[in-house]
Amino acid sequence: MIIHLKSSIGEGQAHEIAKATESAIFHNGDCFVLVTPSKLKEAPNQYSSMIEQSWPMDSDIQLASKSYLSETREITIGNTTIGGRTGNTMVIAGPCSVESEEQIRESAALMIELGISGLRGGCYKPRTSPYSFQGLGLEGLKLLAKMREEHGFTIVSEVRDATHVDEVIEHADVIQIGAKSMYDHGILQACAKKDKAVLIKRGFGTTLQEFAQAAEFVLSGGNSNVMLCERGIRTFETKTRFTLDLCGVAWLKEYTNLPIILDPSHALGYRYGIEDLSKACVAMGIDGLLVEVHPNPAVAKSDAAQQLYHDQFRQLMKAIKPVAEAVGRKIV
Ligand code: PEP
Ligand code: MN
Repeated sequence: MIIHLKSSIGEGQAHEIAKATESAIFHNGDCFVLVTPSKLKEAPNQYSSMIEQSWPMDSDIQLASKSYLSETREITIGNTTIGGRTGNTMVIAGPCSVESEEQIRESAALMIELGISGLRGGCYKPRTSPYSFQGLGLEGLKLLAKMREEHGFTIVSEVRDATHVDEVIEHADVIQIGAKSMYDHGILQACAKKDKAVLIKRGFGTTLQEFAQAAEFVLSGGNSNVMLCERGIRTFETKTRFTLDLCGVAWLKEYTNLPIILDPSHALGYRYGIEDLSKACVAMGIDGLLVEVHPNPAVAKSDAAQQLYHDQFRQLMKAIKPVAEAVGRKIV
């Protein structure tokens, strides 16, 4: 159950009530918000005079639920706002990993040419093999920050463990929590204490309930700037790298209030169908599209098979614009 206390209730009293009701507690700018376990369906009588409004909930998807906020949350990242009634579909593109200044400058130049403000690039890569490229770390983050300083990009980069959160916050505008890290409570709780935008990617074997509950960890710590990213789940199919769960996206849109970003690159794992998938994603009326593109994919240090050539990405941008228009959205 979500409880908004009256704005006259101070911190001390709010924490006492939170303790007695086993609630998470944060301040939303107007009042203290308590989130009890969802099995509690009625607020205890002794607190009723202190409560402004309360929402009983069906499950522990609470702050992320449409029954709490009926509209998708509006999130401002850099110069771009998504969600709410904006109708914006934000493109976030760039290489899988930041590899060198020359490479990220070439990526930045492509984004400028196409009027894209969201530049991505991983610096702490959660690789499956210890012998694969692990990312440039802080050096890479500094390169991204340089691109932001020079061109005003909105930078998206991932954390691999909780110790990277502050570094990524300093150099990027969106903290990406990867598919392999989304159960890491150290990361989730560190992000919950900040107000930076967080993009949570769905784990390979994560149910929609678990996915939305990962967001609850961040929301219930007081950070309301959370986006969910569907990037493919593992199924019996082996011809494609993963299976993009568009049914899941329909469910998330219907039942959660979080902006939804789709990542066709990691889902398919190969360049050939990314344009088609991107059109399908945009047609679903999503809030953002995340695509990997590299100046020379043949020598990419990670995810080489799926990163688009620059010309393919130019073509993709042309192809998704009319689709966005057809569903009443604008590519930003
Ligand atoms: C990535 O975005 O490069 C990445 C590692 O994604 P995921 O966590 O979805 O595998
Ligand atoms: Mn990648």
